Amino acid sequence: MALIALPTAPSADVIVLGLGAMGSHALWRLAARGVDVLGVEQFAPGHDRGGSHGQSRIIRTAYAEGAGYVPLAREAWRLWRELEHTSGTALLTRTGCLSIGPAGSRKTTAPLVSARTHNLACELLPAVELKARFPQFAVPDDHAAVYDPDAGHLRPERAIAAAVAAARAHGARVLTATAVVALTPDPVRPSVLLADGRRLTARRIVVAAGAWLRGLVPAVGRHLRIERRVVGWFPIAHDPAPYRDDAMPVFTGGDDTGERSWYGVPSLDGETVKLGLHRWPEIAEPVDLRRGHRPPDPADAARFSQAIPLALTGIDPTPSRMQTCMYDLTPDEHFVLGPHRDAPGLILLGGFSGHGFKFAPVIGDITTDLATTGTTPHPITAFNPHRFP
Ligand SMILES: Cc1cc2nc3c(=O)[nH]c(=O)nc-3n(C[C@H](O)[C@H](O)[C@H](O)COP(=O)(O)OP(=O)(O)OC[C@H]3O[C@@H](n4cnc5c(N)ncnc54)[C@H](O)[C@@H]3O)c2cc1C
Repeated sequence: MALIALPTAPSADVIVLGLGAMGSHALWRLAARGVDVLGVEQFAPGHDRGGSHGQSRIIRTAYAEGAGYVPLAREAWRLWRELEHTSGTALLTRTGCLSIGPAGSRKTTAPLVSARTHNLACELLPAVELKARFPQFAVPDDHAAVYDPDAGHLRPERAIAAAVAAARAHGARVLTATAVVALTPDPVRPSVLLADGRRLTARRIVVAAGAWLRGLVPAVGRHLRIERRVVGWFPIAHDPAPYRDDAMPVFTGGDDTGERSWYGVPSLDGETVKLGLHRWPEIAEPVDLRRGHRPPDPADAARFSQAIPLALTGIDPTPSRMQTCMYDLTPDEHFVLGPHRDAPGLILLGGFSGHGFKFAPVIGDITTDLATTGTTPHPITAFNPHRFP
């Protein structure tokens, strides 16, 4: 059996594997807090083959997925503003968010639970008031909405670039176009093997590989469903002013069965509005990671032409552009965040289940806590990587 020699000196105190949303922000927070850190990315940061591209991401505070996320969202706001300040780049626009659905359905009750638990300034708007205040939205008479003022949109590609640049300014080293082909979870000296045959070692390895966590750490990654999702941009039929982000909130909407749900972002270009389908019949298509996600096709456009009239008024239902992205879904759609049980040198970040981007800087801070002290004051027990049987 051939023995592979490990380098005598570690390559860094911490290696971050993958520089998408989570890895780039972990790199920034680690470097900002004085850690000797090295990031490794198989493509170029800001690429469109993972789960972090598409011009915009929604940030909300009255969190429908659980009141436990609210403190993380608040801390994320603070850190987004810090990254904007550090980088001199506009990343976060506050627009408010409307969560629209049949009155009394989960779409309206779930954000209100978070709002009541954390005393957030949300409003419940019945259909009449909603239509009067926000005529851009299609609202049946039996619908209502929760308006969350502490919400808006983020610029994902810019944010990743800003986080990597801020990390570099604090001394982080970065290898791009460099794929990790194997991970050795040695409890004392974990290491990664690069495609060019080099092996890098560190005291801690942060695995922030998105959908690729499936292959790199199968014990945890096998629980992830990797699914294709398509977003589209739709022309504004007449006057663009009501659809710009100074007049229109970001939004989520859905029917009473939960089978159809969508989200969207106001116009960033003055010409189109973005819509994505979160759930819809027949969209849960698995992605073969060796081939990558399949480009949009006419069936995607046809689904959008059904969805647009349910969501918006004054918008052409034929997309002028579409783009594919990947979801990495856990069985309970909560995150994977914490040390590997059998290889504590590995810190796993994954399974962000289509709602992780907004938290990226706070996930980076938690990662830094775990890498430096082994613990964190943030509430992460719900994210235990080994909670699935
Ligand atoms: C269509 C869509 C809409 C979304 N909307 C929202 C939203 O509005 N709000 C929100 O908060 N969240 C949203 N999300 C979710 C959010 O964008 C993701 O949860 C988050 O961006 C995932 O980041 P990540 O770093 O885990 O994964 P990725 O960004 O995919 O990063 C993983 C990185 O690891 C690298 N990598 C993998 N394997 C290797 C290897 N072997 N060697 C080297 N590098 C490797 C990859 O190249 C990649 O760059 C959405 C997601 C999608 C797909």
